[in-house]
Amino acid sequence: MLPLKITPIGGVGEIGNNCFLYENNGEAIVVDCGIDPGSNEVEEDILKRFESLYDKNVKAILLTHAHLDHAAVGIVLAKKLNVPLYVSRISKLFIQSFNNKYDRQTDNSEKSRISNVDIKIFEDQVKFNIGIVEITPIQMEHSIPESFGFLINWAGKHVFHLGDCKLTGFWLESRARSIQRLKEVGAYGIDLLVMDVLNIRYPGFTEPESEVVDSIIDLINQAPDKKHYIFLFASNLRRISALWNQLWRRAQVHFNGASMINTSYLLEAIAKKRMRTYSKKVHSKTSVHFGTGCQGEEKSFIRQLADSEKIEPGDRIYISASLIPGKNYTANRRKKRSFRELLKRLKDRGAEIFVQTGQKNIYGDFVHEAHLHVSGHEGYNGLSKIVESVRPKWLLPYHVPHQVRFAAKVEKLAFDVAKIIGEEIFVLDAKNHETIRI
Ligand SMILES: [Zn+2]
Repeated sequence: MLPLKITPIGGVGEIGNNCFLYENNGEAIVVDCGIDPGSNEVEEDILKRFESLYDKNVKAILLTHAHLDHAAVGIVLAKKLNVPLYVSRISKLFIQSFNNKYDRQTDNSEKSRISNVDIKIFEDQVKFNIGIVEITPIQMEHSIPESFGFLINWAGKHVFHLGDCKLTGFWLESRARSIQRLKEVGAYGIDLLVMDVLNIRYPGFTEPESEVVDSIIDLINQAPDKKHYIFLFASNLRRISALWNQLWRRAQVHFNGASMINTSYLLEAIAKKRMRTYSKKVHSKTSVHFGTGCQGEEKSFIRQLADSEKIEPGDRIYISASLIPGKNYTANRRKKRSFRELLKRLKDRGAEIFVQTGQKNIYGDFVHEAHLHVSGHEGYNGLSKIVESVRPKWLLPYHVPHQVRFAAKVEKLAFDVAKIIGEEIFVLDAKNHETIRI
């Protein structure tokens, strides 16, 4: 049998641009096609990165989840290659919303980008086929709802292509459920695990989301007569919906900026079904604003606020996110400095600034620390647990800013897990555009 070929088109040795090509016997499928959300590339340049796919016999594109670094080019590429786009139900809502935004911005209203694309919805654990390729989507936890791993059965091989994921979702008990799911995947006998290792340098497991929500509500309750501004990613629906569930009956809740307003519509569309509510009392006069700009983006609500007269002494600002590292050391430093200056301006207007515990060293003594954020990715122990549960023969890490610097960590992880499971795990030294055969 011909080997299964895997070629990372992007995402290996970098953060963003995730895209993987799977090929066998002249046919191909693509998993994810994203951008680098931090760059200002125009669409023409973005599409050039996918040129190597144009002469392949691609049968379908599958998206693990709707974050831009995995999904932004999905619609455009599916149209260009004239193939179906496989997504989950909630990913489809996100994809519709960011393509509609593009249509509005570019006055592309006559013919929506999303029209004429064959969007197929998959369901958790419901197997489907693309030709002879058998795919089983496995839902995992992440910072956006419905992030999936794909169990791919092709050419006599089992690959588990894990999208961004963590083990623990909103509640701590979700961790055990995730591990159980991974063990069920492992029972198939996995040849290759493709895994997001963004947080491998951090020890431990990622903590439950519920602790962040509790902590923010406690901080709001400390100053009921003030205005509270929560800055986070508009796609972090789980956190926003959990906060909103606790706030809407008593506080005045505002969604600011186009993407946050869109999030409020998405919440209406999906929250009813998924929310498990629990309540903490919030003072009725409290005013809470959700906004974007947790990365200091131009034109975001946080920048508008810093330039306005709206802040009154004692109003509170919560940065419920981490700064995503820039492309390189210089870009990273520039990003940190720019965000620090922005927060300082808000402080000078009288606001109390709260950042995630451990980030004071980035911003300085003028900020307060609190438990405001958990990552959407797993730390070292969580990643070890994933590998231990899936028991792959080979491991292909992605989502790292620097492949070489992370290689030793991944090797150590594979070595440690191999001792536990009693079988060797080989780490593939992959590079973008280089083909691996298994
Ligand atoms: Zn993601």
